[in-house]
Amino acid sequence: MEFSSKLLERAVNEMSQLPGIGKRTALRLVLHMLKQPKTQIQALSEALQSMRNDIKFCKSCNNISDVDVCEICANPHRNEKIICVVEDIRDVMAIENTSSFKGLYHVLGGKISPMDGVGPHDLNIESLVHKVKEGQVEELIFALSSTMEGDTTNFYIYKQIQAYNVQTSTIARGISVGDELEYADEVTLGRSIVNRIPFETSLKS
Ligand SMILES: [Zn+2]
Repeated sequence: MEFSSKLLERAVNEMSQLPGIGKRTALRLVLHMLKQPKTQIQALSEALQSMRNDIKFCKSCNNISDVDVCEICANPHRNEKIICVVEDIRDVMAIENTSSFKGLYHVLGGKISPMDGVGPHDLNIESLVHKVKEGQVEELIFALSSTMEGDTTNFYIYKQIQAYNVQTSTIARGISVGDELEYADEVTLGRSIVNRIPFETSLKS
């Protein structure tokens, strides 16, 4: 792609770093921005910068938050003894949308995936195991997507906490194998949390 402007080229190059945005799409977006009022582009870049600079991860569950302890963890009406283990904030949002879960979350930040170079120590597993060891938790609900990586991660955590006095369950799947949690419809997802099954049962099937 030949550019008549270095400034334009730079903006397009930066924009095309985003996932799913090729050079052509990046050029279209940048040309669109060029037609916008300067104040709007200012607002966009400020929003992105402060998001990147100021966002926090909840000290307790590792969910994305504006404060040290997220709203869910800080809510006294939530049951802190039931923890739903999820991959990332999109899963928290999907499950919150169902209004079917009143416990807390633990956000792992990914799944164990040797192919992608992600091991257990790259994820927030230790802090979860610590919570269980401390005896604060009565039940862990595994709500990772039912891919091989999700299953591996569930099993790894299960092995770490098996010796402690904690129930483990997994969300019942009306969701077919390989479906990502965030795409499941609310009714199905809500039902699958309410009708969760003991984790051991899921291992035998
Ligand atoms: Zn939290």
